[in-house]
Amino acid sequence: MNFLIDKALASTPSKTKPDLLCRYVDDLIVVFSSQTLLQKFFKRLNAVYPSISFTQELELHNTIHYLDVLVTNTPNGIVTTTYRKPTHSGLYSKWDSFVPLHHKRNLVNCLIKRAYNISSSYKIMDQEFGTVKSMLASNGYPVTFLDGCVKGFLNRCHRPTPPSSPKRSETTHFVTMRLPFIGTTSYNIARELKGFVKRTILDVELRVIHKPTKIGSFFSIKDRPCNNLRCSVVYRLTCSCGSSYIGETQRNLITRIKEHRTNEKSEVCRHLQTNTMHRVNFTEPEILDATSKRIRLFILESLLIQQHAPGLNVDTTSMPLRLFNT
Ligand SMILES: [Zn+2]
Repeated sequence: MNFLIDKALASTPSKTKPDLLCRYVDDLIVVFSSQTLLQKFFKRLNAVYPSISFTQELELHNTIHYLDVLVTNTPNGIVTTTYRKPTHSGLYSKWDSFVPLHHKRNLVNCLIKRAYNISSSYKIMDQEFGTVKSMLASNGYPVTFLDGCVKGFLNRCHRPTPPSSPKRSETTHFVTMRLPFIGTTSYNIARELKGFVKRTILDVELRVIHKPTKIGSFFSIKDRPCNNLRCSVVYRLTCSCGSSYIGETQRNLITRIKEHRTNEKSEVCRHLQTNTMHRVNFTEPEILDATSKRIRLFILESLLIQQHAPGLNVDTTSMPLRLFNT
């Protein structure tokens, strides 16, 4: 994008260059002293690379929006305020939503910060704060909570800078852990985990991210496929002699089981060829666990192999269990 703009500017005589040109990714705002100069520059910009075509939007009634800023040209100067698309519905995460409280607080702070940064005067900022509070109140947010967020934000902005804190050790490692959000218990678990890591592992700081869960995910409306057609599972095959084999597959289980019957690379197949009187129930393999994530499948398989110590497994682990074996 810079290449296109630089080329267009280079071919523009200095007297006809824009008075102001700002860019954010592929959005530009330019100010010219006349429409004619603007259209000439627009033609030059579109001529740089024929397959890249710019569109333009002109100021209407002395206003134009750029990203989320509404710019108004008034006799007293430029005024800026927050711009919302005409399709903006005012719908945000509801206060009753089952999401962590800090997600809701961050939403309020984000909208307030945007109003604070964009508004060109205190009066406009105050009006925008009112709009934000009104929209969020419509989404169920308590007025006291909103007022508290605004107060906290303004205090942080205008608080005297505290004396510089000692620098964190350069050897400090940050470990991020994502946990499902299940209500108040999640906060307690996060606190306990952080405390445990702080006490036991030097120079490591644990960060916990709470992932909201959708209630709908607890009530599947789809029929479960039969076990043989399931994929991404950890399964167990048991021989009549009592030995067993634990494996994982991301394909349909029936496809993998077929390989155990016929493929000589399989430990189960080799065991049956050596012990011709033994029998394995291939029609109903036992599913021990399932997960859609590939990496988790390997971890699950390794944990289950470690737990059950099946006699037919040659590989004892498909994933190093560093955390689980400490
Ligand atoms: Zn056997």
